[in-house]
Amino acid sequence: VPPVSRKLIRAADAHSAHNYSPLPVVVAGAEGAWVTDVEGRRYLDLLAGYSALNFGHRNPRLIAAATEQLGRVTLTSRAFHHDRFAAFCEQLADLCGKDAVLPMNTGAEAVETAIKTARKWGYEVRGVPDGRARIVVAAGNFHGRTTTIVGFSTDPEAREHYGPFAPGFDIVPFGDAAALAAAVTGDTVAVLLEPIQGEAGVLVPPDGYLREARRITAERGVLLVLDEIQSGLGRTGRTFACEHESVVPDVYVLGKALGGGVVPVSAVVADRDVLGVYSPGTHGSTFGGNPLACAVALEVIAMLRTGEYQRQAALLGERLHAGLAALAAAPGSAVRAVRGRGLWAGIDVDPRLGGGRRVAERLMGEGVLVKETHGSTIRVAPPLTISAEDLDLALEALARVLVPP
Ligand code: PLP
Repeated sequence: VPPVSRKLIRAADAHSAHNYSPLPVVVAGAEGAWVTDVEGRRYLDLLAGYSALNFGHRNPRLIAAATEQLGRVTLTSRAFHHDRFAAFCEQLADLCGKDAVLPMNTGAEAVETAIKTARKWGYEVRGVPDGRARIVVAAGNFHGRTTTIVGFSTDPEAREHYGPFAPGFDIVPFGDAAALAAAVTGDTVAVLLEPIQGEAGVLVPPDGYLREARRITAERGVLLVLDEIQSGLGRTGRTFACEHESVVPDVYVLGKALGGGVVPVSAVVADRDVLGVYSPGTHGSTFGGNPLACAVALEVIAMLRTGEYQRQAALLGERLHAGLAALAAAPGSAVRAVRGRGLWAGIDVDPRLGGGRRVAERLMGEGVLVKETHGSTIRVAPPLTISAEDLDLALEALARVLVPP
């Protein structure tokens, strides 16, 4: 690690909690799909802020929207109205084909909000006896880091020593519709799923699973809540990953790319019969729905409406998956399995390469940034704005690390 980077990494280590182990790159600038470190070296960003940067670093339209808003008003709190709020809620609800929006900031907050919504709806609309509401979730889930959410995680690392945990969650295997059906009881108020499990390694459920989940929840009168925080907003080649199965959930949970990689913006989007359970004082957030967040998100929504980012993700996704299939098929390849949809892939690599972290470090040496997940899996999710040429550069770097010469 070169000297300026090393000094900054040491200082960060000395003064921060060690709840991450970042790759030894210190980013000082970024544009599009590229980041530049403090020593001036350039890297292709194949993580894209865990899909928060779907539109690339410093997308000019988003920076212009933010800059314009910075010159007017940035925060009112919800104690007052502001002039960007109505448009944001109207446009986002419309993008989802729903009536109403409840804005928050981070993904975990939006998931918490969805949980609160489902419980309140269960008691006040469905008539579940107070204190008994249950929510069905999938093993391998990742919905965020709050105590309630990690309480129903199946990842020991995420849970250890954070208990006691909130009760009321039933965990079923991901992708198993029969298990899901069996877990829904009279006290179940919602089924909460990622349409594709991101942090678990980009796990795409068997075809028909989401449709079955939709059928079961509709039949039993429980809410289908889809966490599209990582899978949504263009990543898979559609606005929402659930569109691949023509599924419309009762509740969308959105975050990450909704803030354009500029500000944290998340939201719960549903019809009035669901979000109507809230009355003044029953839920809130100081920053949720602030003017700056609304201005940036409005531009994100306008960009998604053109369909060009979804098309680009689908098109480049084919190029990515064809390239990865070729890598997997090459003689001596260390690629064990490839999963994904659109411009999103999880690659299981031969554990003999020393684990996903080691692979990520070697890719960094090749000028490409990825993040490992769960042992020997690396994840590829570049900005949807990446050029075909840059994607080919990334595939060549992957080949240098994963396929013997
Ligand atoms: N839900 C999903 C599917 C995610 O991938 C993430 C983050 O990776 C979250 C929720 C949590 O979002 P945040 O880190 O903004 O709280």
